[in-house]
Amino acid sequence: MATDYSDLKKNLPEWVKMSRMFASKGRVADYIPHLAYAPADALGITLLPLNGDKLTAGDCDTSFTLQSISKVFTLILALMDNGEARVFEKVGMEPTGDDFNSMLKLELVEPGKPFNPLINAGAIVISSLIHGQSIAEKSARILAFIRELAGDTSLTWNEEVRRSEAQTANRNRSMAYFLKDNRILDDEVENTLEVYFRHCAIEVHCSHVARMALILANDGVDPQIGRSIIPRRYVQIAKSFMVTCGMYNASGEFAIQVGIPAKSGVSGGILALVPGKLGIGVVGPSLNDKGNSIAGVHLLRLLSERYDWSIF
Ligand code: GLU
Repeated sequence: MATDYSDLKKNLPEWVKMSRMFASKGRVADYIPHLAYAPADALGITLLPLNGDKLTAGDCDTSFTLQSISKVFTLILALMDNGEARVFEKVGMEPTGDDFNSMLKLELVEPGKPFNPLINAGAIVISSLIHGQSIAEKSARILAFIRELAGDTSLTWNEEVRRSEAQTANRNRSMAYFLKDNRILDDEVENTLEVYFRHCAIEVHCSHVARMALILANDGVDPQIGRSIIPRRYVQIAKSFMVTCGMYNASGEFAIQVGIPAKSGVSGGILALVPGKLGIGVVGPSLNDKGNSIAGVHLLRLLSERYDWSIF
């Protein structure tokens, strides 16, 4: 039976307008220089219900790069390629309480294994676990997977953002060398980083992200064709990481205030889902001090409170 989303449809433009006002209190990321060109006051959202029509409001035409959102899907692909045992030999399952690009615990905690696959160190190791003989083959497999989930065969990475990150990624580079030295990373550092930069730079709109989220909300089954694309177990693992580490060091606060699995990226994108109900894509490039879209988090909080979305 179709769920009634008429109230949501009616109120969404107003809530986007209210939430957009918070954008001026945040900052667009510029440590990857090309990201600084993003429109600071943009806010857009797409909601894809499992039973119902697509809902959109605000600046949905603003394109953005997946950045850390891609880490959820490289994790899933690495699990599909290698199985759980191999993946968790290389990365842990715990939140860090440190910044996403921190190196602190790599040296402090034996044996230098990244705490989880969503921090940069973990995601870099995950990129190396994707099957493929070359950078091109690994990147093509990741892109094909994301295209399938997003329902758009034309998706690709933004070459300027990729280059901008590759030219300035001294911290990720040093982390990767450290992981290599500790024999956590088996592949060559530069090859692995190139795969990583490419998937972080895949360019999307909110509707792509909402569709990717909808498949997670539907336990890995593409609702359009009724076929399983991701094994349910790996969706479970991905959702668990999204809840515990998906919103950087504000994951606990987000769990309390919004209460749904989500992953944000430094480009201001957020992928979120209401299990069994909705896939959600948000863009709002102005970030709060924890690195999450400031207006986007405000909007998701309003929606979750109003519609009682919390899974807890
Ligand atoms: N490519 C970005 C980096 O490695 C991703 C960070 C993020 O979105 O959290 O710094």
